[in-house]
Amino acid sequence: MNTLEFIVPCYNESEALPAFYEAVSKVFANLSGVAASLIFVDDGSRDSTLEAIKSIAEKDSSVKYISFSRNFGKEAAMLAGLKMSRADFVGIIDADLQHSPELIPEMLKAVADEGYDIAAARRVDRSGEAKLKSAFSRAFYKLINRISDAQIEEGAQDFRIMNRKVVNAIISMPEYNRFSKGIFSWVGFKTKWFEHENQKRVAGTTKWSFWKLFTYAADGIIGFSTAPLKLSLIVGTFTSLIGFLYALYTIVKTLIFGPDVNGYPSLICAILIIGGLVLISLGITGEYIARMYMEVKNRPDYIINETNIMPEIDE
Ligand code: UDP
Ligand code: MG
Repeated sequence: MNTLEFIVPCYNESEALPAFYEAVSKVFANLSGVAASLIFVDDGSRDSTLEAIKSIAEKDSSVKYISFSRNFGKEAAMLAGLKMSRADFVGIIDADLQHSPELIPEMLKAVADEGYDIAAARRVDRSGEAKLKSAFSRAFYKLINRISDAQIEEGAQDFRIMNRKVVNAIISMPEYNRFSKGIFSWVGFKTKWFEHENQKRVAGTTKWSFWKLFTYAADGIIGFSTAPLKLSLIVGTFTSLIGFLYALYTIVKTLIFGPDVNGYPSLICAILIIGGLVLISLGITGEYIARMYMEVKNRPDYIINETNIMPEIDE
């Protein structure tokens, strides 16, 4: 029989976990032809999430868990789950029931019977979301799909089921700065998309602030495109060309009409604009160098504090 494991990244989700476990177990019980189980990844929660997971694991021996030594972020939590799983099909689902477990049977059918490698959920409506946030996120997808080599489906969620081939491809990517939305699409394979409506969180609060989302978008762009670097080259070339032409013009003008002391305001403007452009280019270059620095350090993506998953002999 095939096995299916769902990874559940959890950060301060103690309130949502009982309802989540109940809903998912109900769906799992009705799956046929596959043995389904859960891997909870406690991402250094500060509430009683780990206790809640352990009490679930006590009652249900198929439940596995990993607990991090601190909060490493959802990307790290997903990676840990993917690396630890040995199942034929591996899924990812949020702990807050925003990803409806009712979709799981259909998704499983796509990868188990219909020949797809990935079954992934895509959010269709953005109702209940701030207008500004929707606008920014739409702009982000447009931009990244234009300038990067990974095409990201708008509204693509982490909620998905993948077969072993895909999982192996994902964990073979060694980068430290992990932008999963990009990685999931970069590895390729045949994907079936499932339209999914925005669900309300059962309990707890979102961990995403506007600033966090903004830096996340920047990570995505920098991680999957070098276009910003080219942008500073183009803008730099353009402004220095203008400066050169202006210098030529001034020389000719001075030779014909003599020197002229006016023009302090335009001078200051030019200095500010050029200075700003130089700093922006340096900043963009710095972002890439900073990421190279982090990659070169080769730090682990996460540190496990405790787990009930037995290490494999061959590792
Ligand atoms: N999460 C995590 N580590 C973090 C932040 C979030 O493991 O640092 C988990 C969280 O517990 C949830 C999922 O990632 O299961 C999605 O987070 P959230 O619901 O806050 O995001 P949203 O649904 O609002 O985009
Ligand atoms: Mg959520």
